[in-house]
Amino acid sequence: AVEFRQVSKSFGPHEVIRKVDLRVDSGEVVAVCGPSGSGKSTLIRLINQLESASSGEILIDSQPTQNLKGAALRQLRTHIGFVFQQFNLYAHLTAEENVSLALIKVHGWKKSVAREKARALLTRVGLGDKAQHYPEQLSGGQQQRVAIARALVTDPKIILFDEPTSALDPEMIGEVLLVMQELAKSGITMIVVTHEMSFAREIADRVIFMDGGEILEQAQPEDFFLRPQHPRAQRFLQKVL
Ligand code: ATP
Ligand code: MG
Repeated sequence: AVEFRQVSKSFGPHEVIRKVDLRVDSGEVVAVCGPSGSGKSTLIRLINQLESASSGEILIDSQPTQNLKGAALRQLRTHIGFVFQQFNLYAHLTAEENVSLALIKVHGWKKSVAREKARALLTRVGLGDKAQHYPEQLSGGQQQRVAIARALVTDPKIILFDEPTSALDPEMIGEVLLVMQELAKSGITMIVVTHEMSFAREIADRVIFMDGGEILEQAQPEDFFLRPQHPRAQRFLQKVL
């Protein structure tokens, strides 16, 4: 489980996460939504220590995660995959090399074994025939699926997504959502920042609505979409639906 206890985060004088309490259980799929600047990216970046909390505690499987360094931080990130809006693939590496890189560089795997695992993951995301392609030879949707394979390569228990479909042409969103839907069934813990209300509605176990650095509402998707309680959630849904 991932647990936030009274977590706050400030950038200079600007408090962008305010005393957040949150628990996400193992295997749960959570969609995080809310207006631009509400703190969604910061919230998930805190989980794998891309940002560090100004106060409060974040626990992963009951272990505190603050101030980890070196091997302990690498260990934490091994257990947490992260998928970015802009894919962030290495342009000079093939799909297979992008996916296998961490196994070889961080975990000391033999190249041939790491590449084999990379090809298996690429097959899982529907790209078995694209292993030798470079990012520029792939569509946006294909690149994002490579990025998902890469995030899975260390067998993480948790995978975080920050608007994984926002940089994609509309016709490519479906193929990425389909991979995410399969992943959701696999028992991995997923926290997904998304504007894709179809994902939140159909795939998530729970929807979290943020505004002003606070979680204003948490509910099962059917309740959130049919009966949002907080006025700001109601206004947000009127705009996006
Ligand atoms: P969006 O939907 O636009 O991605 P968001 O909900 O993900 O927005 P965050 O990126 O978490 O919002 O940003 C929350 C607030 O924190 C914003 O006001 C933003 O300007 C500020 N912020 C985020 N990162 C930094 C940073 N590194 N330095 C200073 N301010 C930051
Ligand atoms: Mg963001």
